[in-house]
Amino acid sequence: MIEQQIKAAIRDIPDFPKPGIIFKDITPILKDHNLCEGIVDAFIEQIKGIKVDAVAGIESRGFLFGLTLANKLGVPFVPVRKAGKLPYTIKQKVYELEYGTATIELHTDAFEPGSHILIHDDLLATGGTVTAASELIQEMGGVVAGYTFVVGLGFLNGKERITPVSDNVIVLAE
Ligand code: IMP
Repeated sequence: MIEQQIKAAIRDIPDFPKPGIIFKDITPILKDHNLCEGIVDAFIEQIKGIKVDAVAGIESRGFLFGLTLANKLGVPFVPVRKAGKLPYTIKQKVYELEYGTATIELHTDAFEPGSHILIHDDLLATGGTVTAASELIQEMGGVVAGYTFVVGLGFLNGKERITPVSDNVIVLAE
C-alpha cells in the first residue's frame, strides 16, 4: 500500500544531474501530507523491537523524514552533513565516489559512545553514503541500529553492501 503510494508519487527525471542518469525526484511526496505521515508511520511500524537511541539523517533529503521520525520515536536527531557546514567541533569521514571523494561530518557531541544509531536517508543507491556514515558513527563509538530509506534502487545492490553492519535495512519502495 505505502509502497504503491510512494512509487506513484516519485517521478523519474532523465539526464539529471548529468546525461545518462535517471534521477528519482521525491519532492512530489512532500506535497502530500497524508503520504508523509504514512511514510513515518511505516518506518515506526517496521523498526518495532529495534533499540534506537538517536536517528542520524544524511544531508540533505535525509533530514526531511529523519527529524520527524526521531521526534515520533522520542529520541534525538543528529544531522550528518557535508564538509564545512557544522559549526561545532566535528569528526569527519572521507569516502570514495565514482569520480573523486566526498566528506561527511558529525558533531563530536552528536551522541554518547554505545548509543544505538538509526541511519536514515531518502534513497539507497550504491550504499556508499550510508556506509561512510556508518563507519563514522562506529569510529565515534556508536552502534548502527539499522537503516531506513524511503526508496531503494534495487539493481545497484546497496542492501548487500550495508547488511554486514546491520541487517535491519528498511526500504519502503524498491
Ligand atoms: P549512494 O551513496 O550511491 O547510495 O547514493 C545515495 C545518496 O545519493 C543519497 O544521499 C541520495 O539522496 C542521493 N541520490 C542518488 N541517486 C538519487 C536519486 O535518483 N534521487 C534522489 N537522491 C539520489
